[in-house]
Amino acid sequence: MTDKFDVAVIGAGPAGYVCAIRAAQLGLKTVCIDKWVDDKGKAKLGGTCLNVGCIPSKALLDTSHKFHEAHRGFKAHGISLDNLDIDVPAMIKRKDKVIKQMNMGISGLFKANGVEAALGTAKVLAGKQIEITAEDGSVSVISAENIVIATGSVPIEIPPTPLDNDIIVDSTGALEFSEVPGRLGVIGAGVIGLELGSVWSRLGSKVTVLEAQESFLALADQQIAKESAKIFKKQKLDIRLSARVVGSEIKGNEVEVRYLDTAGEEKTETYDKLIVCVGRRPYTENLFAADAGINLDERGFVFVDDQCRTDVPGVFAIGDVVRGPMLAHKGSEEGVMVAELIAEKVAQVNYELIPSVIYTHPEVAWAGKTEEEVKASGEEYKVGTFPFAAIGRAVAASESDGMVKVIADKATDRVLGVHAVGPCAAELVQQGVIAMEFSASAEDLQLTMFGHPTFGEALHEAALAVDGHAIHMPNRKR
Ligand code: FAD
Ligand code: AMP
Repeated sequence: MTDKFDVAVIGAGPAGYVCAIRAAQLGLKTVCIDKWVDDKGKAKLGGTCLNVGCIPSKALLDTSHKFHEAHRGFKAHGISLDNLDIDVPAMIKRKDKVIKQMNMGISGLFKANGVEAALGTAKVLAGKQIEITAEDGSVSVISAENIVIATGSVPIEIPPTPLDNDIIVDSTGALEFSEVPGRLGVIGAGVIGLELGSVWSRLGSKVTVLEAQESFLALADQQIAKESAKIFKKQKLDIRLSARVVGSEIKGNEVEVRYLDTAGEEKTETYDKLIVCVGRRPYTENLFAADAGINLDERGFVFVDDQCRTDVPGVFAIGDVVRGPMLAHKGSEEGVMVAELIAEKVAQVNYELIPSVIYTHPEVAWAGKTEEEVKASGEEYKVGTFPFAAIGRAVAASESDGMVKVIADKATDRVLGVHAVGPCAAELVQQGVIAMEFSASAEDLQLTMFGHPTFGEALHEAALAVDGHAIHMPNRKR
């Protein structure tokens, strides 16, 4: 390996690999260092997102959704199936195949763009040098004009539920069960807990989600959160709020979990498996030499400004290892921005418009401001909502649970937030993101023609409802 680079990126997750590709596209001599390997010691580019996060969880969500549809949904369409069964090892194998295909995809993109891939554990030294320790223990040092730290995050562990990686697992272990657990406990009703709980619930587990907070999906618009909670309840996901887990004990093949309920009383539940999904923390273990000069913030994230610059000139940090929501697309956008800044271009990330999606069925998604945030800011606003129950495409598909909500500024009509729970919610909210990125008004959405019959018509009707003239629903008198 040449030892002098324009850009050295540490971490090949969605933040790091995207940054490396963009930097190479801009003509910068780029290396991307990552330590993730398979059981044969071969590089597995793609980080958490590809190896144990976004993609494998969606692979299992897709399989379990198909199974659940066949089991519960087909009958209404007049389709009958006998002896329906789920082969869990085959499902896991398919998931692993999807990951492998995408790992190879990133390797191919690195080759096509001229990014050098280095396998090993990196440590940032003073003077923009990086020490790389290979799998066999050999050490080399490279230097780079610019260093981009993209080392991501790891699951948080809590003292009441130490992992044994068999009965008590984290999100990674929950992607590898060899059979459907009869009773499954999930700690944390965040995005990851709800998605993984849904996978196994659809396959037949009796799932209980224990959540310490008293409100459900505290960061989402609360009208959408309440609607989502109703839908999940119908799906028999037992979500217990104000339930703080305080202890656990593995007894044979099961685990006894103790939690404090709303009244502060201790309750005990027994599960065959327990998934701990209480959040993630930035990963910076052994990453910096003592004199590297990089500072962390009070929560352990690498401290950066709005343009991802650390306190050391020429050293940037992006993705889960820095402040902001831990989302793949947020890190990728930061990666592109940093590559462009290094190439002396003007670049920024619009942190006001980061879409959030929960890939349950139906999906929950949002972008922009919630009604609670707009209210708190004192801005005067208008709201339009529209239920999927009045959308022909949704009824035809037996997918009529949920709604779309559009919030607009009362004075300027500018769209401030788009929120949805329902079929294709992620894609509909993405249409809202495009509208908001271009500073669209509710009227712009009203005057846009939507194909019929589409799920997107719910977004159109919600925008019309903002001014009280939705067509396929009686409007509230104003
Ligand atoms: P990571 O993806 O964590 O990558 C960091 C990389 O750095 C790793 O490959 C690691 O090996 C490498 N590394 C670390 N330290 C070193 C070192 N010293 N030397 C060399 N290499 C190093 N986000 C979404 O947007 N949508 C989703 O649907 C979604 N679903 C998720 C589901 C699950 C179950 C989980 C766990 C996460 C999910 N996420 C999702 C979050 C998403 O995976 C992360 O936000 C994203 O992976 C962060 O990207 P990153 O590049 O910052 O870090
Ligand atoms: P997120 O950070 O979105 O992944 O969600 C993690 C969730 O886990 C949060 O909603 C926390 O309130 C919840 N949580 C953290 N610790 C506990 C605990 N001991 N018992 C129950 N829920 C917890």
